[in-house]
Amino acid sequence: MNVGDTLKKFLSVHGISGLEDNVATLMKKELKGKVKKIYEDKVGNVISVKGSGKLKVLLTAHMDEVGLVVSDIGNDGFIRFAPVGGVDPKILPSRQVKIHTEKGVVNGVIATKTVHVQKKEELEKAYEIKDLFIDVGADDKKSVEKLGINIGDFIEFSEKFIDLHGRRISGRCLDNRVGCTVLTEVMKSINPRNLTVYGVGTVQEEIGLKGARGPMFGIDSDVIVSIDVEISGDTPFLKDEHIPLKLDRGPVIGIRDSSYTIDKRLKKLFLDAAKKYKIPYQLGVSTAGTTESTLAILTKDGKPGALIGVPVRYMHSTVEVVDLNDIENTVKLVVKALGNINKYFR
Ligand SMILES: [Zn+2]
Repeated sequence: MNVGDTLKKFLSVHGISGLEDNVATLMKKELKGKVKKIYEDKVGNVISVKGSGKLKVLLTAHMDEVGLVVSDIGNDGFIRFAPVGGVDPKILPSRQVKIHTEKGVVNGVIATKTVHVQKKEELEKAYEIKDLFIDVGADDKKSVEKLGINIGDFIEFSEKFIDLHGRRISGRCLDNRVGCTVLTEVMKSINPRNLTVYGVGTVQEEIGLKGARGPMFGIDSDVIVSIDVEISGDTPFLKDEHIPLKLDRGPVIGIRDSSYTIDKRLKKLFLDAAKKYKIPYQLGVSTAGTTESTLAILTKDGKPGALIGVPVRYMHSTVEVVDLNDIENTVKLVVKALGNINKYFR
């Protein structure tokens, strides 16, 4: 298992919510021949299947990432935009972007008023999206349209990942290509006995947990486990008492977030597996946001659900940071736990 190689492949493709095709293609390529069956559903979720046992486990990891969308093209040739998912406007100025048009990809830069001519009150206030625009090098609306740019075109951040010291990697969309990496490696290496495992790469999570709902209802599973990232608190301005999660301390067993609580049998399953196989782990309790795991109990007549997370710093920025040890240990924890799951769900 080389999680670094797999992660870097997933970080090299873009997949803004609603345009996840490249991530889906990569996941299918990675798993082809290594699972019993793999297919895409009507909305673009990638579903892989392994094993044929009675107990059915559904794993999900969202493939999409946050970004922007063209909302207006001015007569002066400058483009206005709206967010897709939870984007922090403060990180946008000076960023290079790629606009996906019907004619191909067009480069642009996000800009605002030059610092020298900003008034005192402008220098003191944080940017909002309405203060920003995209320059693609065109002088008027006609030239922009000639490039193929239209209202509704998706805009992606151009940043590439970089290696940091040790086993740390920084880049955009670690949320949730880290989860895609875990899901892919779990599906590659798992050898299910008395178990059927469905590994689902989902679409449109960042705009309200949309894609996972279909497979959760459509696949008649007994248990649902979602794999996503968790906010790592080991940086300046985040105090231990608020977010005690840290990089390189192991996967996060998500206990509770703003709208989810782990199923008690799944909690025991993952804790027992971590202790038995000496896998480091952390317990996640947060009030900030939620993940696909919150949908499990709302599915059909209710399904036991759990979140297994990987700690990541600076979430939804373009310089998120992860430690490969945590990804490796998350794969290990999920594979080992699923190996014992029949004892917990008879
Ligand atoms: Zn996520």
